[in-house]
Amino acid sequence: MKPTERHDRLASFEQECRRRGLALTVQRRTVFEELAGRRDHPTADQVYDAVHRRLPSLSRTTVYRVLETLVETGFARKVHHPDAVVRFDPTTGRHHHLVCESCGSLVDLDDSVVPRVPIPDARGAGFRIRDYTVSFNGLCSSCH
Ligand SMILES: [Zn+2]
Ligand SMILES: [Zn+2]
Repeated sequence: MKPTERHDRLASFEQECRRRGLALTVQRRTVFEELAGRRDHPTADQVYDAVHRRLPSLSRTTVYRVLETLVETGFARKVHHPDAVVRFDPTTGRHHHLVCESCGSLVDLDDSVVPRVPIPDARGAGFRIRDYTVSFNGLCSSCH
């Protein structure tokens, strides 16, 4: 993400917080900036490790809570990784992932290379599909 884009996203996050009666605290801002600057889909603990160095007063619980707020306000989404630890993704539009079976790295894949998958009608199963993400498994450049 370019610095100007990050700045715009921070501004709209601030606006959304205000709309919901939440203050853009230094904690929320720091976690937002950390996640927005990363491309590795970090776990909550990885975000905590990074921001704790810059803001030692920030507790693990607060980081978890702020990440949930980012998801609720639509500024991040959860990625369910095969290793069962939830990762957080600052890119909320539809996109797909490359998952390394050896080291567990998870990176974005350019959307345009994946053909559009028609969303099936799953109402018979009582399920309402909202969106989909394709995960391609394999070995990343440092593992093969
Ligand atoms: Zn790997
Ligand atoms: Zn992603």
